[in-house]
Formats: sequence, structure tokens, C-alpha cells
Amino acid sequence: MSDTGFLIVLSGFAGSGKGTIMKELLTRYPEEYALSVSATTRNPRPGEMEGREYFFKTKEEFEQMIADDALLEHASYVGNYYGTPRAYVEEQLKSSRSVILEIEIQGALLIKEKFPDTLLLFVTPPSAAILRDRLIGRGTETPDVVHSRMVRAIEEADGCEAYDYLIINDDLDTCVEEVHHIIRSERSRMRHRLSEIETIRNDLKKYVKGEPI
Ligand code: 5GP
Repeated sequence: MSDTGFLIVLSGFAGSGKGTIMKELLTRYPEEYALSVSATTRNPRPGEMEGREYFFKTKEEFEQMIADDALLEHASYVGNYYGTPRAYVEEQLKSSRSVILEIEIQGALLIKEKFPDTLLLFVTPPSAAILRDRLIGRGTETPDVVHSRMVRAIEEADGCEAYDYLIINDDLDTCVEEVHHIIRSERSRMRHRLSEIETIRNDLKKYVKGEPI
């Protein structure tokens, strides 16, 4: 594992299961992942808790966070603001964890500009019909909201070429392991591991000189 944090953006259509994938990663590998909790002006859904799914803000509070530069990025989505609080992410990046942001595409591209090493993953259900059925089945959205999310999904698919990997969420368990393996492989790239290879090289030199290693 590299010795500094690693930023991952997980995006995808509403109903793609990206939220569940993220929570599963944290449950299965609690030492490896940290989840960023976003701020939003949308209303809590049943079962959502302040500070767990989101920090729920008024429009005025959210705009104050923007003015204070307290957000790494923010975007509007279906009439509400969403944004990533800066402090938590910056703190986690100093540790060795992989920090996951579950955010939409406009925000993802802003994050990639600020942190070019960010890994961008895009999650989709196997088909549009399955996406529609999952949105309806969730039962938390009005037909209008389902419709606007399907409209929005068209826009999101337009931008997903910028992402590094497409994750097809057919079976949750397989999908979680696939995401975990992709993240681990990406973290193993030489450019993220330069300090480790440097240590090994230095130890080799010490050994050749007869010094203890
Ligand atoms: P939902 O209302 O379904 O929880 O989220 C709606 C969309 O907003 C999802 O695509 C979600 O990934 C995105 N989102 C959640 N938090 C953030 C954030 O902090 N920044 C941005 N740009 N998008 C976010």
C-alpha cells in the first residue's frame, strides 16, 4: 500500500447501486477506505441520518460554505446543491487510506482537475430498463423525480468517457470485489509507490556495502 492517501470518485446513475457498493467496501475493508460525507440542500430521505449519508444544509448555509472555501467542489443536481467538505478529505489524504467520494460527474471532473491522480469509476446497471425498475422499486421518489433522474442519466452517460473504469453492477457481491481489486491495482502503479521502491533500493545499496539492513 502506498504511504499517502488515494482519491477515488465513484459516480453512476441514481439507482446504479453505487451507494451500496461504497458502504460494502467500508464494511469489508474498514482499514483501507474512508468515505467522504457530502453536504447537500436536498431533504433527508426516510432513514437517512445527519452526518452519516449527508450533512443537510439550508441553501443559505450551503452558500456560506462556498463563500468560506469549505468545499473541494460543488455542483447542482436536480435542483439542489451537493458538495464535498474540504477538511475531511484533506485530513484522510495524509493517512494511507483510499478516500471515496460518491459524487456526480460535474464534481468528479473538478476533483480530477485539482487532483489529477484521482481514480474515476462509473457504475451502471446492466441496462436502462433495469435502471428504471430499480428507481421505481426504491419507492422513495415521486414519478416526476424518477423521470428527471432518467433524463439526467442521459447527460451523465454523455460524460462518462472521461472516467477510468466502467463498473457494471449486475451482482452486488461480484461488483464490490471488482471495485476493490481495481482500486488495489491502481494503487500499485509505480508512480504511487516511488517511496517504497526507493527504500528497497537504499537497503540494497547498504547490503552491498556490508551495512545491516
Ligand atoms: P442523491 O440525492 O441521490 O443522494 O444524490 C444525487 C447525486 O448527487 C448523486 O449522483 C450523487 O453521487 C451526487 N452527489 C452526492 N454528493 C455529492 C457531492 O458532494 N458533490 C457532487 N458534485 N455530487 C454529489
